[in-house]
Amino acid sequence: MRLLILGGTGEARDLAARLVDEGMDVTSSLAGRVARPRLPVGEVRIGGFGGVEGLRGALDQFDAVVDATHPFARGMSANAAAACQQTGHPLLRLERPGWPADPSWAYVDTHDQAATLAADLGKRPFITVGRQELARFVPALAGHQVLARVVDRPEIDLPEPWTLLTSRGPYRLEGELALMREHGTDVLITKDSGGTFTWPKMAAAAELGVAVVVVRRPAGADGVRTVDDVAEAVAWVRGLG
Ligand code: NAP
Repeated sequence: MRLLILGGTGEARDLAARLVDEGMDVTSSLAGRVARPRLPVGEVRIGGFGGVEGLRGALDQFDAVVDATHPFARGMSANAAAACQQTGHPLLRLERPGWPADPSWAYVDTHDQAATLAADLGKRPFITVGRQELARFVPALAGHQVLARVVDRPEIDLPEPWTLLTSRGPYRLEGELALMREHGTDVLITKDSGGTFTWPKMAAAAELGVAVVVVRRPAGADGVRTVDDVAEAVAWVRGLG
C-alpha cells in the first residue's frame, strides 16, 4: 500500500508519523509555499503537480490518497477529487473542524468582505489570514494602523502605517495578550482555520474585548468521504488493506 498524503498541516504530519510508525509506505506532498517548512517523517516531495493532469500522472506511483491540506486550500482539494475520480484511487479528506461559533464574532464569506468590515469596526486591525491573502486587505485598510502577522514576508509592498510581524505558531495566550495590548488591537481578522495552533488569539481577543471578523470556509469538493480527526484517517488507511 503506497499512500500519498497531501499535506501542509499539523494533521498531515501527525498522520504521516502514525502510519510510518506502523511500517507503511507514505509519501507526503507539500506545496513549497513556505521557506522552511516543517517536514513530516517518511518520504516528502515538494512542489505542485501541474493541475489535475499532473496529479493524475503522479498517482501511478500510489494506491490511495489522503487529502489533509488546509481547510482553505480548496484548489488542491478540488484537483485531488477530480484526479482520483478519473483514476479510481481511493480518496479520503481529512479536515479539522472549524472553531465553535461565538455569537460575538462577525462571519464573512470572503477576505474582501473581511477587509471592508474590519475598516468599520476598528482603527488598529490585527490581520492573521496568511501572506497569500494580504493584498486583499490593502485597499480598505491602507490608512489603518495594521499589524499583519505572516510566516514569510509577502512579495507586495505594504502601506506605510502597517507593521509586519513574521512568526510561526503555535502561539500561547500570554504572548497573544501581550502582542494585542502592545499594538492596541481593536479588531482581529482571521479565517476559520480551526484547531488549537492559533486558538490563543481568539481567547485573547475575547479577554480584551477585541472585535473578531472570521472568514468562513469555502465549500469543499462534493462526494469526497471526509473525516475530522487523524485516528479516523488511520483507521481508513488500515481498512484499505
Ligand atoms: P491551493 O490554493 O489549494 O493550491 C494551489 C496549488 O498549489 C495547487 O493547485 C497545487 O499546484 C499546489 N499545492 C497546494 N497544496 C499542495 C500540496 N500539498 N502538494 C503539492 N502541491 C500543492 O493551496 P494553498 O491555499 O496555496 O495552500 C498551499 C499549501 O499550504 C497546502 O498544502 C496547504 O495545506 C498549506 N496551507 C495553506 C493554508 C491556507 O490558508 N490556504 C494555511 C496553512 C497551510 P498544482 O496545481 O501545480 O498541483
